[in-house]
Amino acid sequence: MEQIITCINCPVGCRMTVTLTDSGEFESVSGNTCPRGASYARQECTLPLRMITAVIPVSGSRTPLSVKTNNPVPKKLIGSVMEELGRVSVSLPVRAGQVILRDVLGSGSDIVATRSLE
Ligand code: SF4
Repeated sequence: MEQIITCINCPVGCRMTVTLTDSGEFESVSGNTCPRGASYARQECTLPLRMITAVIPVSGSRTPLSVKTNNPVPKKLIGSVMEELGRVSVSLPVRAGQVILRDVLGSGSDIVATRSLE
């Protein structure tokens, strides 16, 4: 089975052809012009990861708080992370970089504030 993906590690955006075994395991990649593309292809086809950004309400503030993961999390967790963010309660003040949710869903990634709110 073949899959076409685009490497997002640099602006060149190489289009790569990934070959997977019948059981869906990574077999080979072509079309990448450097090793970073091969690493990305393997990761993307076995355990795709994504950074998550969101905005959440803050008690006592009319301005919502922008937050993000400090490391990429498995793509399949995005919906569950958003549900967790819907349950979180934050109040003023908030400092940029403050951890809002530590080790969200056991992913090893924290949700952190990307701005300060007084
Ligand atoms: S394979 Fe290398 S050159 Fe191509 S987009 Fe990825 S990082 Fe850039």
